[in-house]
Amino acid sequence: MKHVIMGIPFTNATKKEFIEDYLTPRLETAEQTTVVTANPEIVMKTRENNAYKQVVQAADYVCPDGIGIIYAAKMMKQPLKERIPGIEVVDALLHLAEEKGYSCYFLGAEQSVNERAVAQIKKTFPKLKVAGNHHGFFDIDDRSLAERVAATDPDIVFVAVGAPKQELWIAKYKHLFHKGLFMGVGGSFDVYAGAAKRAPEIWMKLNLEWLYRIVIQPSRVFRIFTSLRFMFLIAIGQGKKD
Ligand code: UDP
Repeated sequence: MKHVIMGIPFTNATKKEFIEDYLTPRLETAEQTTVVTANPEIVMKTRENNAYKQVVQAADYVCPDGIGIIYAAKMMKQPLKERIPGIEVVDALLHLAEEKGYSCYFLGAEQSVNERAVAQIKKTFPKLKVAGNHHGFFDIDDRSLAERVAATDPDIVFVAVGAPKQELWIAKYKHLFHKGLFMGVGGSFDVYAGAAKRAPEIWMKLNLEWLYRIVIQPSRVFRIFTSLRFMFLIAIGQGKKD
């Protein structure tokens, strides 16, 4: 069942259900799948950019990544089971890929970050098949790069170039692939590379991961205004509007 917030249909599942009941069967049958992990900022971006909105609406799954989405769903009296953080889905998929022999492509982040992230992932998941990797500072119209990624025939493609570029890239080029689970993963490679850190557990338990990210990267402070605007719009009943 999908819970719609500002026209964006969110998947209502626990993280475990999402991995085991939604993604695992689709990987087993090699069914092409697109996953968006959306926080309030992404929902707000879809309000400003209709092409982006259509891409997010057309995704197979939109996960609630961000406590603001969970609060909004509660305020709209259609609660979502739990937050599904993108990076935790990446982790679970890497486990699954190593176990089942699925190959993964890592597209995104700066060259050095990308290389360090892939090296770290290979260390943690030594049997993982890496289809390939490439940095994320490419032009979205660079079709030859997409063709090169498709030629590696990956089972899973992680695209870490930030929103909306990552989702737009996936929508534009997924037809070049025969199969593949495609997922935009934002700053996840920075975390694997050690260039960014997730919040300590206590911050996460208190649902303050967003605040931690601002504390360690103050340039993100402006993003909070977008999230506040989102919460304000929900509070005045705009959540049910497209
Ligand atoms: N990035 C990239 N190509 C670009 C712009 C950004 O590869 O053209 C990378 C950037 O280096 C970082 C990630 O995309 O690793 C974006 O992380 P962020 O946490 O800002 O993601 P967002 O919150 O915007 O989804």
